[in-house]
Amino acid sequence: MHEHTVPLLEARHVTRRFGALVAVDDVSFAVAAGQVFGIAGPNGSGKSTLFNVMTGIPFAPSSGEVLLSGRPIQDLRPHQISRAGILRTFQKDAEFATLTAFQNVYTSAVYCAGLGSEEARSAAVQALDDVALPMVRRDMEARELSVFERKQLMIASAIASQPKVLLLDEPAAGLTKPEVAGLADLIRTVRERGITIVLIEHVLPLLLGVSEHLMVLNQGRIIASGAPDSVVKDPNVIEAYLGSREAAP
Ligand code: ADP
Ligand code: MG
Repeated sequence: MHEHTVPLLEARHVTRRFGALVAVDDVSFAVAAGQVFGIAGPNGSGKSTLFNVMTGIPFAPSSGEVLLSGRPIQDLRPHQISRAGILRTFQKDAEFATLTAFQNVYTSAVYCAGLGSEEARSAAVQALDDVALPMVRRDMEARELSVFERKQLMIASAIASQPKVLLLDEPAAGLTKPEVAGLADLIRTVRERGITIVLIEHVLPLLLGVSEHLMVLNQGRIIASGAPDSVVKDPNVIEAYLGSREAAP
């Protein structure tokens, strides 16, 4: 990142406490526009909580600042944060199960991007084309789609929402290996649409395949941050993964 460029998204000394537990502990980082910024860490290391406090859903940080294009947003209400351009996906499926795939994406274009019906219609078609969801699946209810097709739907809805930043929380959950490769392509497509991405992921090949920067959390704290290739070789990172009995990177 250039010295004089204001980061698109920045966290400064963000902390979130739950009673005595410090789930996110003095976390600072900056995401440049256009970047895919990866976040890894063992279970319970504070990754999802970090997304929670950055979007205000369901709670703000206990202390610290979150800035979008240099503007503090940590005191805004969740709908104001989403209107400012931060969109977040959750670990579980979040589509409207009984709406069709098309209706889901169309709804995102209307309510998140604020498009009128004609514009929203073409934005939805474009987004579904971008993720290559087959035509015959677009008029099926979301609940009838396969796991991978629901990921395509999630990504299409994100594109149609036209956020500045997309926060993805473990999007590869439930996918087979070849499907993970397909998801990596979808994430690259999102970036090509000019959307900056912060990606929490357990599946390291995906994280390493798409991220330009990798930050690793352990017990709420940053233990490594930098070029993905060097971060995965960091002894502290290996130790954190082995210590939690998860696969080492
Ligand atoms: P990760 O996403 O990295 O697996 P989380 O952010 O979900 O981790 O959780 C970090 C820690 O914070 C865990 O110890 C978890 O139990 C705790 N935690 C998360 N949300 C809450 C909450 N609402 N109330 C109390 N503790 C929480
Ligand atoms: Mg999580």
